[in-house]
Amino acid sequence: MRDAGVDADSYSLILLRFYCTAPRDRVFLEVRMVSPGALDRARFQLPLLRVRAGAVAEGVVGMIGPLWFGVHWIEGRQRLCGLSSSEDCPLCALSAARILGMTLIQCALSNASATLLLEFSPLAWGQFEERCRFHGGDLREGVRVRITRPRARGCLRIEPLGTPSHFSMWLDGERRLLNAWAVLYGLPLATREETVEAFTERVKSVVQARARLVAGNPSV
Ligand SMILES: [Zn+2]
Repeated sequence: MRDAGVDADSYSLILLRFYCTAPRDRVFLEVRMVSPGALDRARFQLPLLRVRAGAVAEGVVGMIGPLWFGVHWIEGRQRLCGLSSSEDCPLCALSAARILGMTLIQCALSNASATLLLEFSPLAWGQFEERCRFHGGDLREGVRVRITRPRARGCLRIEPLGTPSHFSMWLDGERRLLNAWAVLYGLPLATREETVEAFTERVKSVVQARARLVAGNPSV
């Protein structure tokens, strides 16, 4: 991966700096205040791969997800869409929802392999699947990909480069993806046995409640 224009957000760095710069006597107290739940969330946290226009990122994707969800941009912030088969989303009346997909991607960062989140539009993923069909690429075996963004506000271009020489599918990848997504959006974590459908059904009430809150006061 080239450095220019590609970065990985890591919220854990913020946490680390906080502990490193806190006064010595306070560090102990703060560490004790971290609940097991918070530690679990930190364990599932993954950086989001950002590819700016002109940059090139390379990595390996597999058959994990994608997880699809709707988002709204309200007051400069991204909010999850609460639309479901049984309930309307109050935010849909304020702005059009955009559908996003997410999967895991393995990238080489500083000569070490790292797992990141890759976010894309349905169009970008559809075109990638089409390219896999025509040029070869089986997500079950992993696909090496090159990712670019042709235009600053355009969608990603994900090109298959072939099958990786070494690739083992992420252990418990689906759950890892769900939980990384949940941490990113501040939602409850998926339990060990929960399916994608059961998890999304459970968090729907949280997303709906938030959407109602934001619709009532967009600056919340
Ligand atoms: Zn909505």
